[in-house]
Amino acid sequence: PIRLESVGKLFGNSRAVDDVSIDIPAGSFTVLLGPSGCGKSTTLRMIAGLEGTDEGQILIGDQDVTDKASSKRDISMVFQSYALFPHLSVAENIIFGLKVRKVPAAERHAKLIQVADLLGLSELLERKPGQLSGGQQQRVALGRAIVGEKPVCLMDEPLSNLDAKLRHEMRVELRALQQRLGFTMVYVTHDQVEAITMADQVVLLNGGRLEQAAAPRELYERPATTFAAKFIGTPP
Ligand code: ATP
Ligand code: MG
Repeated sequence: PIRLESVGKLFGNSRAVDDVSIDIPAGSFTVLLGPSGCGKSTTLRMIAGLEGTDEGQILIGDQDVTDKASSKRDISMVFQSYALFPHLSVAENIIFGLKVRKVPAAERHAKLIQVADLLGLSELLERKPGQLSGGQQQRVALGRAIVGEKPVCLMDEPLSNLDAKLRHEMRVELRALQQRLGFTMVYVTHDQVEAITMADQVVLLNGGRLEQAAAPRELYERPATTFAAKFIGTPP
């Protein structure tokens, strides 16, 4: 599980995240949802350790990681831009992190084959990212995230560069993959439909504050605030 306890973040005088407490059960698919600028990415980056916290604590598993470097947190991360290495092949991109961690070559190869098979990338391993479609690049980014078998995966609007059809397919694939592998997912989106269709738990943020954290159905049927009702589109 992951726990945020009264977490806050200031940029200069402005509060990007304000007194946010969240419980993220192990193995759950939790979505951070809310309008542009509400603090989704900042919250995710604090969980990742890419951004320090100014207030509160973050726990991953039973460890307080608030002051731990990102590299010491047992997580993987996928960004909107994918951030693939353009000069490396698909195979090299996927196993890059394993190489850095000095995982033996035979083991790297076995993991690569397994992940490529799972994501339908087996035929594309020698290509460079520039020779792939958006959806294929997305799969490579996913492959790189899951190959290390971390218990927690953090994603920030990973599907926003894809067209509507592919985005829909990838939602289904990603959700199935997460359920099959059983890792804890924290997923950022500003898209209500994406949140409602993918999440076990939706965490709705507004102006840096927590509006409501609930299962999609509960959020829809029993919005706790006027903002929640409006944002989710619950009829009055
Ligand atoms: P979007 O949906 O547009 O990605 P978001 O919910 O991810 O929005 P954040 O990126 O977390 O929003 O930003 C929250 C607030 O903090 C915004 O007001 C933003 O302008 C501000 N902010 C974010 N990063 C910085 C920074 N490095 N320096 C100053 N202000 C920042
Ligand atoms: Mg963002």
